[in-house]
Amino acid sequence: VTEKALGETTTYAPDLLYLNGRFERGRALVCDAQGRIAAVTNLESFAERDETTNNVVRLRNRAMLPGMSNAHSHAFQRVIRGRTEYRSEHARDSFWTWREMMYAAASRLTPEDIYDASRMAFLEMALAGITSVGEFHYLHRTASGVEYDDPNLLSKEVVRAARDTGLRIALLRVAYARAGFQRPPDERQRRFIEPDSETFLRNTDALARDLVALESTDAPPSAWVGVAPHSVRAVPLESLRDVCAFASARKFVVHMHVAEQPAEIDACVEETGRTPVALLASEGLLGANFTGVHAVHITPEEVRSLARARACVCACPTTERNLGDGIVPADALFDEGVRLALGTDSHTQIDLLEDARELEYHLRLQRLQRNVLAPTHGARRNTEGRRDVDNEGVREVDNEDVRDDADSSALSKLAARLFECASLNGARSIGADAGEFAAGRAADFFTVDLSDASIAGADEEDLLPSIVFSLSRAAVRDVSVGGRLIVEDGRHAAQDEIVSRFAALQRRLWT
Ligand SMILES: [Zn+2]
Repeated sequence: VTEKALGETTTYAPDLLYLNGRFERGRALVCDAQGRIAAVTNLESFAERDETTNNVVRLRNRAMLPGMSNAHSHAFQRVIRGRTEYRSEHARDSFWTWREMMYAAASRLTPEDIYDASRMAFLEMALAGITSVGEFHYLHRTASGVEYDDPNLLSKEVVRAARDTGLRIALLRVAYARAGFQRPPDERQRRFIEPDSETFLRNTDALARDLVALESTDAPPSAWVGVAPHSVRAVPLESLRDVCAFASARKFVVHMHVAEQPAEIDACVEETGRTPVALLASEGLLGANFTGVHAVHITPEEVRSLARARACVCACPTTERNLGDGIVPADALFDEGVRLALGTDSHTQIDLLEDARELEYHLRLQRLQRNVLAPTHGARRNTEGRRDVDNEGVREVDNEDVRDDADSSALSKLAARLFECASLNGARSIGADAGEFAAGRAADFFTVDLSDASIAGADEEDLLPSIVFSLSRAAVRDVSVGGRLIVEDGRHAAQDEIVSRFAALQRRLWT
């Protein structure tokens, strides 16, 4: 990367640029020296001969879209890909038998292994057009449960992996206190558990300070902290209150696994008399900074309480289908105006557009219908993304047309809504100032090859649905984070090294 002089801009000029729910020709993205979008401009303002002097990068035969935000990741789980797809000795394989295998892998990783596995996951994200990630990180201690000299050593290894790959990262530091309600401690959770909320809060504060110290003052943040009470199973109510109060005092985002598995809900009802979402709602712990991950098994009343709190739901369809979790009721959530983000979670696949299309496809299979999530006229939607958020109280959800209703063509409405989940909604969920081409946002984007076999022949009208429903990951060509290309022509500069280090790790772990 060449250092740019103060005030120097770079202009990226693709054939088509995605703006306000549709593709436009002859538009270009101007990035300032700090890595923010300075403007979206008309390409005609640059004569061909001026292109070099004006630092214009022509991206020929490319369409450019805002970078995607992966709102839920456990990077280290990349090491068990392909190793859990068989019938074990259990009578019936399930989420819980899969978890046994995941624990076994988690207990064996050194700090350096966690770096290598994370870099592999982040590389694959970058190659898929993902420019920021919310890493739900719960490995804190040594395999025997002892604090490292730096209690944030493993968090920092994950952050280092993101920095070295070029992705922005929200390190969602996980609070994990127990095996479950009235359950004896589980040895294999020793790496996750910090004994009390004071320890968790102290370590999280220290990490936040250390990450801020690494930031350059005028660029959009590249790594920051959020908190993640693991689940109602792993965090008792008292600690949950402490963690949420801590987060709102510091304006951190809060992420939490919610209603992924029926057994978790039954245990919560047994302990508190309430289901997880009802518990969070009645305790006043839901808010605009809250993202509930999964929310598969929820009632209509719980959907309404998420909407009232202006909370976000992060669906992870590729993982939810892999683990047999169930189907996120995205239609009910959209109808009530809940924002949805997407995550690749266990990394069975890393392709956020696959998650976007499955959000819709799972409902098609269940309802025996098509275009279930297509916005209908008058559909309600939380519009806070368009304005400043007032953190107090509940604002009425607007009834006016949503942006993708107003601006995108009929062909693109469903695709625009799904793409917004993968981009703007994900960015908001993890606290990244990105996800759309607007002045002041981070200059994070990706391009696709218009001649790729998976989308060839699409024009402005059907390009977005072609991308959302049919794009091959191999069509992603350039990826920018902060105006700097981390992937060029489909390749990452450190790709070979990252892959060979990861292959060596897998050999060590499994042979
Ligand atoms: Zn998860």
